[in-house]
Amino acid sequence: MSNPVGTLYVIATPIGNLEDISFRALSILKQVKYIAAEDTRQSKKLLSHYDITTRLVSHHKFNERNNEQKLIKDLHIGHDIALISDAGTPLICDPGSGLVKSCHEAGIHVVPVPGPSALIAALSVSGLSSDRFVFDGFLPEKKSMRTKVFKDLLYEDRTMVFYETPHRIMAALDDIREIFSEDQIVLVARELTKKYETLYCGTVSKIKELLHENVSQQKGEFVIVIKGTDKKVPTSEKLNQKVMESLLRELPLKKAASLAAEITGESKNNMYKLGLELQKK
Ligand code: SAM
Repeated sequence: MSNPVGTLYVIATPIGNLEDISFRALSILKQVKYIAAEDTRQSKKLLSHYDITTRLVSHHKFNERNNEQKLIKDLHIGHDIALISDAGTPLICDPGSGLVKSCHEAGIHVVPVPGPSALIAALSVSGLSSDRFVFDGFLPEKKSMRTKVFKDLLYEDRTMVFYETPHRIMAALDDIREIFSEDQIVLVARELTKKYETLYCGTVSKIKELLHENVSQQKGEFVIVIKGTDKKVPTSEKLNQKVMESLLRELPLKKAASLAAEITGESKNNMYKLGLELQKK
Protein backbone atom coordinates (compact mmCIF):
# COMPACT_ATOMS: atom_id res chain seq x y z
CA MET A 1 0.00 0.00 0.00
CA SER A 2 1.39 3.43 -0.86
CA ASN A 3 1.90 6.03 1.88
CA PRO A 4 -0.86 8.59 2.27
CA VAL A 5 0.28 11.98 0.97
CA GLY A 6 0.96 14.63 3.64
CA THR A 7 -0.74 18.01 3.97
CA LEU A 8 0.73 21.49 3.67
CA TYR A 9 -0.80 23.74 6.35
CA VAL A 10 -0.53 27.47 5.58
CA ILE A 11 -0.68 29.01 9.03
CA ALA A 12 -1.18 32.67 9.97
CA THR A 13 0.89 33.84 12.95
CA PRO A 14 0.73 37.07 15.04
CA ILE A 15 1.64 40.47 13.58
CA GLY A 16 2.85 41.73 16.95
CA ASN A 17 0.88 40.46 19.91
CA LEU A 18 1.92 36.84 20.46
CA GLU A 19 -1.53 35.97 21.78
CA ASP A 20 -3.11 36.53 18.37
CA ILE A 21 -2.88 32.92 17.27
CA SER A 22 -5.60 30.31 17.11
CA PHE A 23 -5.78 27.10 19.18
CA ARG A 24 -5.93 25.20 15.92
CA ALA A 25 -2.73 26.88 14.63
CA LEU A 26 -0.88 25.97 17.84
CA SER A 27 -2.10 22.40 17.76
CA ILE A 28 -1.06 21.91 14.11
CA LEU A 29 2.33 23.55 14.72
CA LYS A 30 2.90 20.95 17.45
CA GLN A 31 1.81 18.02 15.29
CA VAL A 32 3.49 18.57 11.93
CA LYS A 33 6.76 16.89 10.98
CA TYR A 34 8.48 20.28 10.58
CA ILE A 35 7.75 23.96 10.03
CA ALA A 36 8.98 25.82 6.95
CA ALA A 37 9.58 29.37 8.22
CA GLU A 38 10.68 32.58 6.54
CA ASP A 39 13.13 33.42 9.33
CA THR A 40 13.77 30.60 11.78
CA ARG A 41 15.18 32.93 14.47
CA GLN A 42 12.05 35.08 14.37
CA SER A 43 9.73 32.07 14.50
CA LYS A 44 11.69 30.52 17.37
CA LYS A 45 10.39 33.34 19.60
CA LEU A 46 6.80 32.37 18.83
CA LEU A 47 7.44 28.65 19.23
CA SER A 48 9.28 28.99 22.54
CA HIS A 49 6.50 31.24 23.87
CA TYR A 50 4.15 28.28 23.36
CA ASP A 51 6.66 25.53 24.25
CA ILE A 52 6.53 24.11 20.75
CA THR A 53 9.58 22.04 19.90
CA THR A 54 8.79 21.14 16.28
CA ARG A 55 11.82 21.49 13.99
CA LEU A 56 12.09 24.69 11.97
CA VAL A 57 13.54 24.78 8.45
CA SER A 58 14.20 27.99 6.59
CA HIS A 59 12.04 28.82 3.59
CA HIS A 60 12.54 32.37 2.38
CA LYS A 61 12.47 34.23 -0.91
CA PHE A 62 16.12 33.41 -1.67
CA ASN A 63 15.92 29.64 -1.19
CA GLU A 64 12.25 28.89 -1.83
CA ARG A 65 12.76 27.67 -5.38
CA ASN A 66 15.51 25.22 -4.40
CA ASN A 67 13.60 24.12 -1.30
CA GLU A 68 10.36 23.35 -3.04
CA GLN A 69 11.34 19.96 -4.44
CA LYS A 70 12.53 18.72 -1.04
CA LEU A 71 9.29 19.88 0.60
CA ILE A 72 7.15 18.29 -2.11
CA LYS A 73 9.13 15.05 -1.74
CA ASP A 74 8.55 15.03 2.03
CA LEU A 75 4.85 15.73 1.53
CA HIS A 76 4.71 12.88 -0.97
CA ILE A 77 6.13 10.42 1.53
CA GLY A 78 3.40 11.37 3.96
CA HIS A 79 4.89 14.11 6.14
CA ASP A 80 2.63 17.00 7.18
CA ILE A 81 4.39 20.36 6.92
CA ALA A 82 3.43 23.83 8.19
CA LEU A 83 4.31 26.98 6.29
CA ILE A 84 4.62 30.20 8.30
CA SER A 85 6.08 33.65 7.65
CA ASP A 86 7.65 36.16 10.04
CA ALA A 87 4.27 37.71 10.78
CA GLY A 88 0.70 37.47 9.60
CA THR A 89 -0.58 35.36 6.75
CA PRO A 90 1.96 33.60 4.52
CA LEU A 91 1.92 34.60 0.81
CA ILE A 92 0.52 38.06 1.62
CA CYS A 93 3.64 40.01 0.61
CA ASP A 94 5.52 37.00 1.98
CA PRO A 95 7.07 33.86 0.49
CA GLY A 96 5.15 30.67 -0.24
CA SER A 97 3.23 31.11 -3.48
CA GLY A 98 5.64 28.88 -5.42
CA LEU A 99 5.31 26.08 -2.88
CA VAL A 100 1.52 26.28 -2.73
CA LYS A 101 1.33 26.27 -6.54
CA SER A 102 3.62 23.24 -6.75
CA CYS A 103 1.47 21.44 -4.15
CA HIS A 104 -1.66 22.06 -6.24
CA GLU A 105 0.12 20.77 -9.31
CA ALA A 106 1.33 17.68 -7.44
CA GLY A 107 -2.14 16.96 -6.03
CA ILE A 108 -1.03 17.66 -2.47
CA HIS A 109 -3.66 18.82 -0.02
CA VAL A 110 -3.19 22.48 1.03
CA VAL A 111 -5.06 23.64 4.13
CA PRO A 112 -5.35 27.26 5.31
CA VAL A 113 -5.24 28.01 9.03
CA PRO A 114 -6.44 31.61 9.02
CA GLY A 115 -5.50 34.34 11.45
CA PRO A 116 -3.96 37.82 11.49
CA SER A 117 -3.04 39.88 8.49
CA ALA A 118 -1.99 43.52 8.82
CA LEU A 119 -4.13 44.61 5.87
CA ILE A 120 -7.34 43.13 7.30
CA ALA A 121 -6.54 44.41 10.81
CA ALA A 122 -6.06 47.94 9.42
CA LEU A 123 -9.22 47.78 7.30
CA SER A 124 -11.24 46.54 10.27
CA VAL A 125 -10.48 49.71 12.24
CA SER A 126 -10.49 52.14 9.30
CA GLY A 127 -14.16 53.07 9.50
CA LEU A 128 -13.99 53.14 5.71
CA SER A 129 -16.10 51.07 3.39
CA SER A 130 -14.59 47.59 3.50
CA ASP A 131 -17.01 45.38 1.58
CA ARG A 132 -14.96 46.10 -1.52
CA PHE A 133 -11.33 47.11 -1.40
CA VAL A 134 -8.09 47.04 -3.38
CA PHE A 135 -4.88 45.79 -1.79
CA ASP A 136 -1.80 46.82 -3.71
CA GLY A 137 0.96 45.40 -1.47
CA PHE A 138 4.04 47.52 -0.83
CA LEU A 139 4.17 50.92 -2.46
CA PRO A 140 7.09 51.24 -4.90
CA GLU A 141 10.38 52.62 -3.66
CA LYS A 142 10.78 55.29 -6.34
CA LYS A 143 8.70 58.45 -6.24
CA SER A 144 7.92 58.30 -9.96
CA MET A 145 6.56 54.75 -9.65
CA ARG A 146 4.65 55.58 -6.47
CA THR A 147 2.95 58.58 -8.03
CA LYS A 148 2.05 56.45 -11.03
CA VAL A 149 0.33 53.94 -8.73
CA PHE A 150 -1.66 56.78 -7.16
CA LYS A 151 -2.48 58.42 -10.51
CA ASP A 152 -3.82 55.11 -11.80
CA LEU A 153 -6.06 54.91 -8.72
CA LEU A 154 -7.25 58.51 -8.80
CA TYR A 155 -10.82 57.52 -9.71
CA GLU A 156 -10.89 54.28 -7.69
CA ASP A 157 -14.15 54.05 -5.75
CA ARG A 158 -13.07 51.15 -3.53
CA THR A 159 -11.02 51.60 -0.37
CA MET A 160 -7.30 51.22 -1.14
CA VAL A 161 -4.79 49.48 1.15
CA PHE A 162 -0.99 49.54 0.97
CA TYR A 163 1.97 48.41 3.05
CA GLU A 164 4.68 50.98 3.66
CA THR A 165 8.08 51.00 5.34
CA PRO A 166 9.09 53.53 8.03
CA HIS A 167 11.70 55.25 5.88
CA ARG A 168 9.17 56.05 3.13
CA ILE A 169 6.04 56.77 5.13
CA MET A 170 6.43 60.58 4.95
CA ALA A 171 7.23 60.52 1.23
CA ALA A 172 4.19 58.33 0.57
CA LEU A 173 1.91 60.72 2.46
CA ASP A 174 3.40 63.62 0.49
CA ASP A 175 2.58 61.86 -2.77
CA ILE A 176 -0.98 61.06 -1.65
CA ARG A 177 -1.47 64.74 -0.88
CA GLU A 178 0.01 65.75 -4.22
CA ILE A 179 -1.94 63.29 -6.40
CA PHE A 180 -5.29 62.96 -4.59
CA SER A 181 -5.70 66.17 -2.54
CA GLU A 182 -4.69 67.61 0.78
CA ASP A 183 -8.16 66.74 2.10
CA GLN A 184 -7.95 63.09 1.05
CA ILE A 185 -9.19 60.89 3.91
CA VAL A 186 -6.61 58.36 4.99
CA LEU A 187 -5.99 55.94 7.84
CA VAL A 188 -2.41 55.29 8.87
CA ALA A 189 -2.24 52.21 11.08
CA ARG A 190 1.07 51.98 12.93
CA GLU A 191 2.43 49.04 14.95
CA LEU A 192 -0.89 47.16 15.01
CA THR A 193 -1.42 44.90 18.04
CA LYS A 194 1.88 46.06 19.55
CA LYS A 195 2.60 48.19 22.62
CA TYR A 196 2.77 51.47 20.70
CA GLU A 197 -0.09 50.81 18.31
CA THR A 198 -1.36 54.12 16.91
CA LEU A 199 -4.13 54.92 14.45
CA TYR A 200 -4.15 58.20 12.57
CA CYS A 201 -7.39 58.90 10.79
CA GLY A 202 -8.27 62.10 8.94
CA THR A 203 -7.02 64.24 6.10
CA VAL A 204 -3.63 63.32 4.70
CA SER A 205 -2.26 66.80 5.42
CA LYS A 206 -3.29 66.62 9.09
CA ILE A 207 -1.73 63.17 9.51
CA LYS A 208 1.48 64.33 7.86
CA GLU A 209 1.64 67.25 10.23
CA LEU A 210 1.14 64.98 13.27
CA LEU A 211 3.86 62.56 12.16
CA HIS A 212 6.17 65.44 11.27
CA GLU A 213 5.82 66.85 14.79
CA ASN A 214 6.68 63.51 16.35
CA VAL A 215 9.60 61.79 14.63
CA SER A 216 9.32 58.67 16.81
CA GLN A 217 5.91 58.06 15.23
CA GLN A 218 7.60 57.71 11.84
CA LYS A 219 9.19 54.45 13.05
CA GLY A 220 7.62 51.00 13.07
CA GLU A 221 5.37 49.10 10.69
CA PHE A 222 2.66 50.82 8.69
CA VAL A 223 -0.47 50.14 6.72
CA ILE A 224 -1.95 53.02 4.71
CA VAL A 225 -5.67 52.93 3.92
CA ILE A 226 -7.07 55.48 1.45
CA LYS A 227 -10.77 56.27 1.10
CA GLY A 228 -12.15 55.59 -2.37
CA THR A 229 -13.61 58.47 -4.35
CA ASP A 230 -17.15 59.10 -5.52
CA LYS A 231 -15.86 61.32 -8.33
CA LYS A 232 -16.56 59.95 -11.78
CA VAL A 233 -13.88 59.60 -14.44
CA PRO A 234 -14.21 62.70 -16.58
CA THR A 235 -15.83 61.92 -19.90
CA SER A 236 -13.52 62.38 -22.85
CA GLU A 237 -15.26 65.63 -23.78
CA LYS A 238 -14.78 67.05 -20.31
CA LEU A 239 -11.24 65.75 -20.20
CA ASN A 240 -10.40 67.36 -23.57
CA GLN A 241 -11.79 70.63 -22.32
CA LYS A 242 -9.79 70.41 -19.08
CA VAL A 243 -6.56 69.62 -20.90
CA MET A 244 -7.09 72.43 -23.41
CA GLU A 245 -8.00 74.96 -20.72
CA SER A 246 -4.86 74.13 -18.75
CA LEU A 247 -2.58 74.29 -21.78
CA LEU A 248 -4.10 77.55 -23.02
CA ARG A 249 -3.15 79.20 -19.77
CA GLU A 250 0.51 78.61 -20.60
CA LEU A 251 0.77 78.30 -24.40
CA PRO A 252 -0.41 79.95 -27.63
CA LEU A 253 -3.43 78.28 -29.30
CA LYS A 254 -1.58 76.36 -32.01
CA LYS A 255 0.97 74.86 -29.64
CA ALA A 256 -1.70 74.08 -27.03
CA ALA A 257 -3.83 72.29 -29.67
CA SER A 258 -0.91 70.21 -30.86
CA LEU A 259 0.10 69.19 -27.33
CA ALA A 260 -3.52 68.53 -26.30
CA ALA A 261 -3.94 66.26 -29.33
CA GLU A 262 -0.87 64.32 -28.29
CA ILE A 263 -2.14 63.90 -24.71
CA THR A 264 -5.74 63.00 -25.49
CA GLY A 265 -5.44 61.23 -28.84
CA GLU A 266 -7.92 63.70 -30.39
CA SER A 267 -7.15 65.29 -33.76
CA LYS A 268 -5.18 68.56 -33.78
CA ASN A 269 -7.95 70.14 -35.80
CA ASN A 270 -10.63 69.32 -33.22
CA MET A 271 -8.48 70.55 -30.38
CA TYR A 272 -7.78 73.77 -32.31
CA LYS A 273 -11.52 74.36 -32.77
CA LEU A 274 -12.16 73.60 -29.09
CA GLY A 275 -9.40 76.07 -28.19
CA LEU A 276 -11.00 78.77 -30.33
CA GLU A 277 -14.34 78.26 -28.58
CA LEU A 278 -12.74 78.34 -25.16
CA GLN A 279 -10.94 81.59 -26.02
CA LYS A 280 -14.27 83.21 -26.91
CA LYS A 281 -15.71 82.48 -23.44
N1 SAM B 1 2.13 38.60 5.67
C1 SAM B 1 1.96 39.81 6.44
C2 SAM B 1 0.47 40.06 6.66
O1 SAM B 1 -0.33 39.14 6.48
O2 SAM B 1 0.11 41.17 7.03
C3 SAM B 1 2.63 40.99 5.77
C4 SAM B 1 4.10 40.82 5.56
S1 SAM B 1 4.88 42.17 4.84
C5 SAM B 1 6.49 41.51 4.53
C6 SAM B 1 5.23 43.21 6.18
C7 SAM B 1 4.47 44.54 6.11
O3 SAM B 1 3.16 44.35 6.63
C8 SAM B 1 5.08 45.64 6.98
O4 SAM B 1 6.11 46.34 6.29
C9 SAM B 1 3.88 46.54 7.23
O5 SAM B 1 3.62 47.36 6.13
C10 SAM B 1 2.77 45.49 7.37
N2 SAM B 1 2.65 45.09 8.79
C11 SAM B 1 3.01 43.91 9.33
N3 SAM B 1 2.78 43.91 10.66
C12 SAM B 1 2.26 45.11 10.95
C13 SAM B 1 1.82 45.73 12.15
N4 SAM B 1 1.88 45.10 13.31
N5 SAM B 1 1.32 46.99 12.08
C14 SAM B 1 1.26 47.64 10.90
N6 SAM B 1 1.68 47.11 9.75
C15 SAM B 1 2.18 45.87 9.77
